[in-house]
Amino acid sequence: MEFEPVIGLEVHSQLKTNTKIFCSCSTEFGADPNTHVCPVCLGMPGVLPVLNKTVVEFAMRMGLATHCTISRRSRFARKNYFYPDLPKGYQISQYELPIAEHGHINITLEDGTTKRIGITRIHMEEDAGKLIHDPVRPVSLVDYNRTGTPLIEIVSEPDIRSPEEAGAYLRQIRSILRYLGISDGNMEEGSFRCDANVSIRPKGTETFGTRAELKNLNSFKYVESAIAYEIKRQKAVIAEGGKVVQETRLWDSAKNRSNSMRGKEEAHDYRYFPDPDLVPIVIDDAWIASVRQSLPELPEARKERFVSEYGLPLYDAEVLTAAKELADYFEDCARIVENPKLVSNWVMGTLLGLLNAEGKTIEQSPVSSSQLAELLALIEADVISGKIAKTVFDEMVKSGKAPKAIVAEKGLVQVTDESAIESAVDQVIAANPGEVEKFKAGNAKLMGFFVGQVMKETKGKANPQIVNKLLAQKLK
Ligand SMILES: [Zn+2]
Repeated sequence: MEFEPVIGLEVHSQLKTNTKIFCSCSTEFGADPNTHVCPVCLGMPGVLPVLNKTVVEFAMRMGLATHCTISRRSRFARKNYFYPDLPKGYQISQYELPIAEHGHINITLEDGTTKRIGITRIHMEEDAGKLIHDPVRPVSLVDYNRTGTPLIEIVSEPDIRSPEEAGAYLRQIRSILRYLGISDGNMEEGSFRCDANVSIRPKGTETFGTRAELKNLNSFKYVESAIAYEIKRQKAVIAEGGKVVQETRLWDSAKNRSNSMRGKEEAHDYRYFPDPDLVPIVIDDAWIASVRQSLPELPEARKERFVSEYGLPLYDAEVLTAAKELADYFEDCARIVENPKLVSNWVMGTLLGLLNAEGKTIEQSPVSSSQLAELLALIEADVISGKIAKTVFDEMVKSGKAPKAIVAEKGLVQVTDESAIESAVDQVIAANPGEVEKFKAGNAKLMGFFVGQVMKETKGKANPQIVNKLLAQKLK
């Protein structure tokens, strides 16, 4: 029997507010343990939470960006469970009345096609603290700095059908959050986390199989491997005549497998009830309209514009708009350089190649957009060839100097004087009689060899168009 995976994702994203959701403590990451705490976020008796308005606004931004309906009236609920890093014994979350519902985003698949993934709901809640396990003493310590940091949970419909689609969905969600400026989407620091619900069913059927929940997947790679492993595991259970049980599983990245953590609890286990300390949140049309107006251009719209405005291939537009900063970098260059495809090739090839190799983000690029634009303008003005530009680029990375200064200092200006190039062409032809004979006998591929030799002879400085033209004339 052929099986089909059914996957839904729950993404928790910390919001980049300055203060916590129900008190005025700082949300800054990396402070000394238990320095950003107060009676409210420590869950002392007799204190009252006060809702941070920016959290509501940020949640609305995400709701509107993902085509959700914003609830005119929503409210907070208590989700009861005990955990050492949750001092109140309950988490303030939203249950029956979330702030946003019924949305969707589009993801782009490997083959370039687009798929719509439904968003069931987005709700606001508070984060828990952090346990630090010291294996030496051995003790467990609690840091409450993160307690009360605002989160939104974005719950997808079970529309995802493969680990790759899950990865594409997550990347798109993160990209939207970053474009909106409401979250840094940093998986390493734990500000962007994902749980995956995975089940399988015979292909062509509609009923859902029993699902397992994969908890706290903290890298894009783990999400995809954990889901792939889970699909395989469930298929094996069924093939052996067994039944998949509802449970929560933890991914062990070192062993590349997941282990059962506990039986999965149902919503009623949490004894949700409306939080009596917080009044319902009432949102009027004017507020929704003003938030909608403040939304920036989002990745999908920007991608389409990159195709129509700059004439870029869809693939280039997809890569360049994935991160807002990268798209900004491209547009800064494209304002100065005439040919957008030249910019796109350099940004996607040379620049991203360098950044990936050094594990840096575009914001940490050693070459600024204006420096790269200056370099590319030199190619367009025929001052240097594309090949020399690579040498200049490497030097820019090393020394931080401006491209024009490097070109002048190293005498890299392109040779466009035909007579100078002609003598190099003549030398190359004279030195390679065998190749000339083969070329004339029909081996057209040897043209590349001759061009290479002339470029070597001129230390890469000859104008490639002139080299090609002269070689074609002389080898006729
Ligand atoms: Zn506090």
